Amino acid sequence: MGDVRVTWENGHDHFRIFMHGERIGLFLPLVGSGLSRVMTTDIGANIGNARSTDAGSDPRRGSGEAAAAPLQLDELQRAFSSAAKVFVTLDDAQWLTKFRTHHRCVDRYRDECIFMAGDAAHIHSPAGGQGMNTGLQGAAKLAWKLGAVLRHGAPAGLLATYESERLPVARETIAFTDKLNVALVPQSAVCPAGATKTLSCDETCSTAVLKRHVFRKW
Ligand SMILES: Cc1cc2nc3c(=O)[nH]c(=O)nc-3n(C[C@H](O)[C@H](O)[C@H](O)COP(=O)(O)OP(=O)(O)OC[C@H]3O[C@@H](n4cnc5c(N)ncnc54)[C@H](O)[C@@H]3O)c2cc1C
Repeated sequence: MGDVRVTWENGHDHFRIFMHGERIGLFLPLVGSGLSRVMTTDIGANIGNARSTDAGSDPRRGSGEAAAAPLQLDELQRAFSSAAKVFVTLDDAQWLTKFRTHHRCVDRYRDECIFMAGDAAHIHSPAGGQGMNTGLQGAAKLAWKLGAVLRHGAPAGLLATYESERLPVARETIAFTDKLNVALVPQSAVCPAGATKTLSCDETCSTAVLKRHVFRKW
């Protein structure tokens, strides 16, 4: 992904998402500039993702050298053209980066006076846009509990409820985003053949199908 100038036949007015079964592409015009945020999936780089929920698992496990190399503009241009199915020229890159979809969670939110929060505690697919929100809600909860104990004399046991309240939320969020990711990302590319049902683009976009695959309680 990156912030770049996009020259193509589609103009610069609307947010666009491309789902043709091989890649997902996102085009987000940045208001007040000729730049846009462009993002595509790179399924090949996703194959080696860490999926362990064990504390201390190595997030780099299985990653290839290509996935670790800095993103080049021509690489993004090729990937985005392939996602959008039209010829695209990208230039004037402000920044470029690769991100990988993780699937990990700590098993404890607290070790004595150390508390975990945000992506350090739980990290998962950006599908559904929940990582920052989950982290902020956890941090807000931790902040008021710390304030109550340290400033207002609440019992220290209150701090133990941080983990019991937030760890289930993290686990549920990871399970949810994982399902959403599997529903949205072309499955034939990330799963062994025949391991899961492959959704076509039309199926994936249908609210009924998303409800059936994602919102059903696991
Ligand atoms: C493509 C993408 C789209 C996303 N979209 C959404 C969305 O729409 N909605 C949403 O809610 N979430 C979204 N997220 C998730 C969200 O970005 C993260 O959950 C959030 O940024 C995590 O914040 P954080 O402060 O916990 O961690 P980070 O943002 O990772 O901050 C940690 C900081 O610590 C610094 N750091 C690391 N190690 C050290 C060290 N040893 N010493 C000092 N500093 C250090 C890092 O440089 C970094 O600045 C998205 C994520 C991605 C990748």
